[in-house]
Amino acid sequence: MTLIGSAIRLLCGETGVFVLFHEGFDLQSDTEYIPIPYHLDGAACSSFLASLQGRVQPTADHLLVVDMFPSDVAKQPGLENSYERTGDTDELAQVLERCSLFLHDGEGNVGILHCLRPAGQRSCFEQTEETLQIFVAQLAVGIRSAVQVQALMKEQELTREREREEQRSTFISVISHELQTPIAIIKGYASTLARSDAELEPEALRSRLVAIEEEADRLNKLVGNLLYASRIQGGGLQMEVAPLDLGRLIQSVVRRLQFKSRDVMIVLELPPNLPTVMADRDRIEEVLQNLLDNAVKYSPRLRVLTIACRVTSDEVIVSISDRGMGISLEDQERIFDRFQRSENDLTQITPGAGLGLYICRAIVEAHGGRIWVESTLRQGSTFFFSLPRVE
Ligand code: ADP
Repeated sequence: MTLIGSAIRLLCGETGVFVLFHEGFDLQSDTEYIPIPYHLDGAACSSFLASLQGRVQPTADHLLVVDMFPSDVAKQPGLENSYERTGDTDELAQVLERCSLFLHDGEGNVGILHCLRPAGQRSCFEQTEETLQIFVAQLAVGIRSAVQVQALMKEQELTREREREEQRSTFISVISHELQTPIAIIKGYASTLARSDAELEPEALRSRLVAIEEEADRLNKLVGNLLYASRIQGGGLQMEVAPLDLGRLIQSVVRRLQFKSRDVMIVLELPPNLPTVMADRDRIEEVLQNLLDNAVKYSPRLRVLTIACRVTSDEVIVSISDRGMGISLEDQERIFDRFQRSENDLTQITPGAGLGLYICRAIVEAHGGRIWVESTLRQGSTFFFSLPRVE
């Protein structure tokens, strides 16, 4: 900590160690502390601290203890190099003194600052008891808050590391499950077809081949999404932005969906004269496709979707509503993150890796837009995304 270095230099020292008390520190015990060395390596710090054992220590009543530092200790490996005011360690060892300062503030004891300095040097803070007390109080407050900030940062880093670890294991379990299922289905059907005694009716043969094709598509989509997600993470998502007629794009995506899923009813609410937006057509198509696929996937009974557009002064807002299973408030907050899926039975049996919404959000945000969801459990969800209007 630079604060400790500054404090040591203010005391005319050049090297030392700050012993930070743990809560409930017992002055008699020499185990409950954290040493923070300044210009001392690990071995030198230990021998310096060992040399202080059994010697007079400062306390809240006697804040400062200054005494000669034994020459044999000063010559120990590590310590002899740590004090560099003169090059001559022999001579130096004769004239070093240790200076130990007890630090406490209104909240309690903070620790002891031990430093080495040339014998006879006195800092201006040692001139009167009063100036020493002011120095100690200021330093204690500074060190206490620095220690708190450090502890907080450590805690945040630990939390981040824990989250990264969780993400890694979620990634592995989601991906292995998502890969295993289609591979198992493809292998199962392919081995049946490959059997020499297999005699299948043309319809049965066709349905198996269709299943193989669908599962291969699913694998293909998953791999594509994984590549997409890693490109987003690496910041390599390129946009080819051009004026886009959103209404026409929506109509073409809807036509394709109706051809594929004939049991889905789609209500289109597009206002006339939708303003042009600046967008990458292929990417926005991908967003629409993902949101519509989800609306179908997570609506097990009533497959009625409404796609609407609303125009505000500066953006066009597209909404896709379903009357499906809905999403809990808690899940609404996290489903746009990577590999996040709702915790419910239908999601567990529905194929998916939790990447679609993550990709949608990255695309929409790269256009300067927003994406969000409003949903009620068991009643349905509406996903919205906005795109800025052309001026
Ligand atoms: P995937 O569908 O592949 O799991 P997504 O990122 O597209 O991944 O969606 C994340 C999760 O959000 C889904 O697993 C599902 O739990 C939930 N979800 C997405 N869209 C809907 C929807 N229309 N209705 C209910 N839940 C949804």
